[in-house]
Amino acid sequence: MANKRIASSSRDNWGEKLARKSMEISNGNSPFHHVTLKHRRTTLGRVDKFLSPIYFTDVNIFGRLYQRHAPVMLIKHFGPTNSTFQEISKCENHFKNFIVGDNFGPTFSRHWFKLSIEIPSSWIREKVQLIWDMGCEGLIWRNNKPVFSLNYEDEFGVKKRYNIYEKFQQHNDRSVTLYISVSCNRLLGEGKNGMINPTDLKKMFTLTKAEIVTLNSDAYNTFLDLCLLHELAKSLPEDSQRSTEALYSANEIINILVKSKFSEQGYTNARDISKKFFTTKTRDGEHIVHAMGHCHIDSAWLWPYSETIHKCARSWISTLTLMDKFPDFTFVCSQAQQFEWVKENYPEIYKKLKIYVKEGRFIPVGGTWIEMDGNIPSGESMIRQFVFGQRFFLEEFGITCKEFWLPDTFGYSANLPQIMNEAGIHNFLTQKLSWNLVNTFPHNTFHWEGIDGSRVICHFPPGDSYGMHVKPEELLKTMSNHKDKGRSDTSVFLFGFGDGGGGPTEGMLHRLSRMSNCAGLPKVKMSTPDQFFADVVKTQDKLCTWVGELFLELHNGTYTTQAKIKKFNRKCEILLHNIEFMWTLAESQKKKDFPPYPRQEIDRLWKLLLLNQFHDVLPGSSIELVNQDACKYYEDIMKSGEILINTANKSLIKHTKNKTEFSFLNSLSWDRKEVVELPDKSLSFIFCPSLSMTSIHICETDPVIVEPQKNGMISLRNSKLRCTFDNGGRLVSLQLNNAEGSKELIKSSHFGNQLVLFDDVPLFWDAWDVMDYHLETRSPVLDVIEPLHVSEKSCELRGILEFSVRIGDNSKLKQTIELDADSPVIRFKTFVDWQENHKFLKVEFPWNIHSTKATHEVQFGHLERPNHQNTSWDSARFEVWAHKWADLSEYNCGVAILNDCKYGYSTFGSTMRLSLLRSPKAPDDNADMGEHEFTYEVMPHSKSLQESGVIKQAFQLNNPLRAFEGKVENDLKLANLNTDAVILDTCKKSDVHKDAMLLRLYEAFGSSTECEITLSNSCIKKVERCNILEEPKESCDIEINENHSFTSSFSPFQIQSFLVWLD
Ligand SMILES: [Zn+2]
Repeated sequence: MANKRIASSSRDNWGEKLARKSMEISNGNSPFHHVTLKHRRTTLGRVDKFLSPIYFTDVNIFGRLYQRHAPVMLIKHFGPTNSTFQEISKCENHFKNFIVGDNFGPTFSRHWFKLSIEIPSSWIREKVQLIWDMGCEGLIWRNNKPVFSLNYEDEFGVKKRYNIYEKFQQHNDRSVTLYISVSCNRLLGEGKNGMINPTDLKKMFTLTKAEIVTLNSDAYNTFLDLCLLHELAKSLPEDSQRSTEALYSANEIINILVKSKFSEQGYTNARDISKKFFTTKTRDGEHIVHAMGHCHIDSAWLWPYSETIHKCARSWISTLTLMDKFPDFTFVCSQAQQFEWVKENYPEIYKKLKIYVKEGRFIPVGGTWIEMDGNIPSGESMIRQFVFGQRFFLEEFGITCKEFWLPDTFGYSANLPQIMNEAGIHNFLTQKLSWNLVNTFPHNTFHWEGIDGSRVICHFPPGDSYGMHVKPEELLKTMSNHKDKGRSDTSVFLFGFGDGGGGPTEGMLHRLSRMSNCAGLPKVKMSTPDQFFADVVKTQDKLCTWVGELFLELHNGTYTTQAKIKKFNRKCEILLHNIEFMWTLAESQKKKDFPPYPRQEIDRLWKLLLLNQFHDVLPGSSIELVNQDACKYYEDIMKSGEILINTANKSLIKHTKNKTEFSFLNSLSWDRKEVVELPDKSLSFIFCPSLSMTSIHICETDPVIVEPQKNGMISLRNSKLRCTFDNGGRLVSLQLNNAEGSKELIKSSHFGNQLVLFDDVPLFWDAWDVMDYHLETRSPVLDVIEPLHVSEKSCELRGILEFSVRIGDNSKLKQTIELDADSPVIRFKTFVDWQENHKFLKVEFPWNIHSTKATHEVQFGHLERPNHQNTSWDSARFEVWAHKWADLSEYNCGVAILNDCKYGYSTFGSTMRLSLLRSPKAPDDNADMGEHEFTYEVMPHSKSLQESGVIKQAFQLNNPLRAFEGKVENDLKLANLNTDAVILDTCKKSDVHKDAMLLRLYEAFGSSTECEITLSNSCIKKVERCNILEEPKESCDIEINENHSFTSSFSPFQIQSFLVWLD
């Protein structure tokens, strides 16, 4: 034993010596250790090649990732089919054998694959993966459940991987069956020769790879380290110590791996070096980045709505599977509609998602039904986006969102802060203004103040993206680009593939954990919107304030593109308003035999409308298939809405055989006196009280005078105005018939109603963008086909002129100009057959008005914008949006242009233009081709625009008095308002309180005022002020006056909602 001990001891000494020697060598004391020159470029190149999936893969680390390969034993295919998993699992005989190299398709069709996998027994203790490449998106099902998606490219350069076993064990099944449901499209659709080009609907797809592999975890982890060190070396400032450290750590890792022949010990030593680098902590007080997983899924864009349902399922199941593995991983997810889709179509995913929502890791955000367009939806539509969104989140998850989330929308209305506040939301996140073409927005974290003075805290993630890939340069930009550093030293960082879905990857999470507290970078923590905004609130007193709209200096063509969709949107908004008014009016009559309020059907129609307000549908930036689907939804709303109107009408009106008895609906909150067309096509001048359904009250009025002149011009005159048109339909004179004088409103030597055509070729985003240089290509439309003449239908109550012109090479426009008795507006009913290529049609009016600003209607109010180009901010607003009207006024005089379905305006000096039609060719090459019908009106006025009635007139154009055959037994009237400044915008049954009705009013002038609301036929039991979610605002009830009225004070542009219980 003793001898043995000596022998052993002697061997130990020898071993120690050897170890010491080896240490000396690795410390560089060996004469054979070579120190290279400090050559940055070659060292960077060396690391790059060591990671390359293309070069030197026989000797680099990439080539060592996958060690063993085996084919998928049997592949079977079934499709195209829209069958669900439950359906296909019952019809196995439909599946046919399929091999690598076989094709399937075409674009947007759906297919199923069944994979029989046999794992070699020698792969024990290995990580086993499936690699499956078919050039499109797929969802893997295992044991009857969806488990993971195949839909994004990751850092391996391999597109589609799925972990079959993290570590294949003896007791695991060697035989594995997987199903893959496949959508024949990539993440961003299938544009022909370019992402935003029209879809290649005939594309076929090929299965190019189907194998199982083992992944060497040591190589994988070191590979991740090296990738990051390489990126850090390139991203950190070249003269910084950390950049050099990163580069030399990477270089040393390569040396160790090569010298150790990629041994287990070599990997351990290599990882020690990287660990040392990544655990060198950031300094105290460093910028804090709140990272959140994110997956922007456009509800429809370069793919149809139906495909989005599968995109959500694919993206979310992968996210949830990653949550199982990464306990700190948080993910934010917007759009209640997408949750509802997954609930209905993928209950297994929804069940799992609910668990993580409860844990606070899968976080519903935004509070809206979809991520809507921020400009075009009406005020009430905006409100319903929040109502339907917040209601869904409350019912499903017991929470309401505390932040509004609209990262990808093309501008934000100046009344959104008030609407957000009304929905219980005080924080807002977007980043889209980083796309501004001209001006850099000056803040990242700031107070945003709306037209009524309401405020929210607003954050633009300084990395300028909602789809980060967790790269060092993104984290560095997030820190360096934050324009409010000092005021707020914290930012949001949203990571995950987006737009077409995808979401975070495992690689992103690994990178994030390595960089979470790493000197040279900001401090990163996995976080939530609540945690982030709580941090911001701590220093909110230091933040700057931005007042007014968040205008995007890009995508300004989206106010006009896809005219039909915009028209449907406006018409459906009005229709739903009228449906809700009629049914509430009916309920207020307390008639026993009246059918119950059709809440379910009204909600269904609202949801369709809200869906189509998605930020690529309503703006007109989607492919043709989406536009066709959207129109089908609109047609459903129009058709089903009419059924609801007629059902209400049947109960309200006594129908007689006498075809000359008519009743009228006035759903607006002021009395109207105007010329109407009766169902028998005859005209009458009638009075219709506010908020009522009444029998016809015919009134007397002065006739319209139509005066053809010798020079081919024709004049129209009524009690309010007179105007003259030339033979091309151009307005040569416009004057008010008021006592104070009759200023000529058309600028001398100019023409109003001048149609003008512009070249409209953007830099890239065809359907989206109109560039400022289009204004340099103005071409007036002068080719008269049919000269102006008096229509056969012209009569004393309505003077009617007609003309037609040729536009461009292939288009025609016919216009009917109308002036009604006693009306303050000239109406231009327009029919266009539009067949142009990259042309923009507008109508222009050079007014004899001097002002430095024009006023534009927005949701529940209006705002002024400059009509000059003093600054880059002014000139970048060369094409702006408005709702029903825009006005140019000087003191005591002005002219407004009203419209029934248009949104684009531009005013330069005294010339106002209304944008009518565009003709982009991508992503829908048939966009706007064909026939269009729309109406605009010109309203000259004295006094201010508020006093002139412009606001009311624009409502009236959009919501004409509606005639019904039959007689109302007793005139039905809901309510009366005692001021012109307040408008009752919505009247509906309460969603929450069974017996209450909801009245929503807003102050429309920008004034402080009192409004008395008198309920006509009913006694009021109780009135409560509430927010838009119909939660009472204060404990004390509102006092009810003896005459069934109540009074409320309004501040400028204030929206107020009241719950009213009737006796
Ligand atoms: Zn989007």
